[in-house]
Amino acid sequence: MTKKKLTLIMKFGGTSVGSVEAIQNIIRITASVRTDFERIVLVASAMSGVTNQLLAGAQAAANGDMGTIHNAATMLRDKHTQAANGLIADQGDAAQLQTEIEPLISTFISLCQAISVLGETTPRVLDSIASLGERMSVRLLAATLKSNDVPGKYVEASSLIVTDDNFQSAHPDIKATRDKTQTFLAPIFKAGKIPIVTGFLAATAEGVITTLGRGGSDYSAAILGSVLNADEVWIWTDVNGVMTADPRIVPDARTIPELTFREVGELAYFGAKVLHPKTIRPVVEAGIGLRVCNTFNPEHPGTRIVAKSASKGSQRDGFVKAVTAIKQQRMITIEGRGMMGVPGMAARAFGAVAATQTSVTLISQASSEQSICFTVPSESADLVISEIEKAFKLELQDRDIDRIWATDDAVIVTVVGAGIRDTPGVAGAIFSALAEHEVNIIAIAQGSSDSALSMVVEANNANMVIRALHRLIVDNWEEMHK
Ligand code: ADP
Ligand code: ASP
Ligand code: MG
Repeated sequence: MTKKKLTLIMKFGGTSVGSVEAIQNIIRITASVRTDFERIVLVASAMSGVTNQLLAGAQAAANGDMGTIHNAATMLRDKHTQAANGLIADQGDAAQLQTEIEPLISTFISLCQAISVLGETTPRVLDSIASLGERMSVRLLAATLKSNDVPGKYVEASSLIVTDDNFQSAHPDIKATRDKTQTFLAPIFKAGKIPIVTGFLAATAEGVITTLGRGGSDYSAAILGSVLNADEVWIWTDVNGVMTADPRIVPDARTIPELTFREVGELAYFGAKVLHPKTIRPVVEAGIGLRVCNTFNPEHPGTRIVAKSASKGSQRDGFVKAVTAIKQQRMITIEGRGMMGVPGMAARAFGAVAATQTSVTLISQASSEQSICFTVPSESADLVISEIEKAFKLELQDRDIDRIWATDDAVIVTVVGAGIRDTPGVAGAIFSALAEHEVNIIAIAQGSSDSALSMVVEANNANMVIRALHRLIVDNWEEMHK
């Protein structure tokens, strides 16, 4: 008999808890891994669309539109009730679930009423509202497990994960989280039950609800994996693992069987939504196995994330393995001859950006010492420019800086693959492919590792660029398997 591994964390995303069929798959998957692991933790996102709807409700409330709130409340109730009707046979259990979900819907309405009185939202209240989706889905999941005789217990992550009060993108205190999580979950494991934990949300040490940022349930799973010393973290989603490109943009994208932490880190950072960028670090640091797989195709092996490339997959190192993009970016340039060789210019420029709470997505290699170029999300560009203008008021007056300006909407397209930057010919192949399509490259930047190369291109070229670069990946893949 093979020995059971100890701990497995399985995270199910929005689509994976988004329908009766999906939740039935979760039950099957959970039941089947119980023979292999002693302790299993499920982490669930809100049902697909729910977080957006909650946040849209908060916005409507700020505009005084309470009609939308009542409609949203009805839709949220119907969505969960319909799923429950398809999943839970016992009338009593279904009624019990209803009594657990209804107070959360009432909380949504009363928080929105408070917002409409104030006429504005705060990050703190937005987190309380956004967290309601996960708080509903875990109740639904726990009731469904029960009706399938799988012993589970829903747990709100506010009892486990401790963060600072940086609402909407809170940072975990790992030590406090470890103590709290181990203490809270111990009796649940002891009773032989599977904790079903809300993804996305956490709480400050004082107990105020925070969230880890949009798409943050992956990060929740990674944090719990790390503090529980898990053997494995499996991210269950709606595609066959990490693919060579977003299959919504490139229909013939293929699953990448194996990727290194570094490669997948670059992919996630540069826009591949399949894994939240913060997921990687806690898992790597703790030496935990990480896998991305498909709830709708559980037999497919998906993608294994490994520490070091075995280079025996379908793709080889030194060539592009995947292409990804971040849309709605604008590139800001600060230019002027008076900047040449003056120490501290970049520090002041980025200090001004930081003062607007904007994070810089990419810094480009300047073609000369006379300019600094970087990209920020489009919606922040005007604010960033005005802050930089304030910071460099004197230099602008003295004409040491001539101009601070932003491009129109642009897209950062990034190719990822270990060693691509040091392999002769790769950059050449990329730029020739783009030249063939007459694409104008606004800027080029190299990632922090040797695994990524980013290009800023005009927004209307983006999908064409992604497909052209994807063609290179497919050609190379086929070349290897001739
Ligand atoms: P979940 O709700 O399961 O967290 P997400 O929508 O956050 O799912 O992420 C999965 C989606 O990520 C896929 O449906 C796919 O469209 C998108 N995606 C973007 N880039 C990639 C990629 N390189 N490989 C796989 N999926 C990708
Ligand atoms: N429900 C949250 C969101 O939509 C978190 C997640 O799905 O990972 O952003
Ligand atoms: Mg996600």
